[in-house]
Amino acid sequence: MIFACLDLEGVLVPEIWINVAERTGIDALRITTRDEPDYDVLMTRRLEILAEHGLRLPDLHEVIGSLSPLEGAPAFLDWLRDRFQVLILSDTFYEFAAPLMRQLGQPTLLCHRLGIAEDGAIRDYHIRLPDQKRRAVQALHELEFRVIAAGDSYNDTTMLSEADAGILFCPPENVIREFPQFPVTRDYEALRREFEAAAGTL
Ligand SMILES: [Mg+2]
Repeated sequence: MIFACLDLEGVLVPEIWINVAERTGIDALRITTRDEPDYDVLMTRRLEILAEHGLRLPDLHEVIGSLSPLEGAPAFLDWLRDRFQVLILSDTFYEFAAPLMRQLGQPTLLCHRLGIAEDGAIRDYHIRLPDQKRRAVQALHELEFRVIAAGDSYNDTTMLSEADAGILFCPPENVIREFPQFPVTRDYEALRREFEAAAGTL
């Protein structure tokens, strides 16, 4: 039995924070791990910006609910679920991802969670555990499953290395250069082919 572990943002859905920044017009929310590599500093700053603008979870749900999965993502996910046990491993938060997961038919998602005050304000956040993507793949290996993983970014590379086969999907150039061991795909057709090829070797 083979598990397919997929990153969420950049693979099945658009980048949530960037779209929140665009749709709310709050440019300061565009900061990403590329601008601020310390995730704790980055998230604390994001939550401060939301509070400064009086944005609460229901406001964010309105924004995120207006987003759609990437074109072709639902069909790709259906194809994948027909052939593998599918697990989405993401560094987003359940509370953010919910409106998009509904549109994807509620696949199993392991991610982090937010602390929400009674009035809907986002108080803080809780990381499930450090490097959870890699550790989820390790746990699947301990359960005697094989794993094929796909992701688009730096925060996926430990997961891809830990998996029996790792695939990059629409990655930035610096990730391609630093991780030449992973095949690069740029559309769902190519990603399907890589999953099939990898499954054939396991
Ligand atoms: Mg991603």
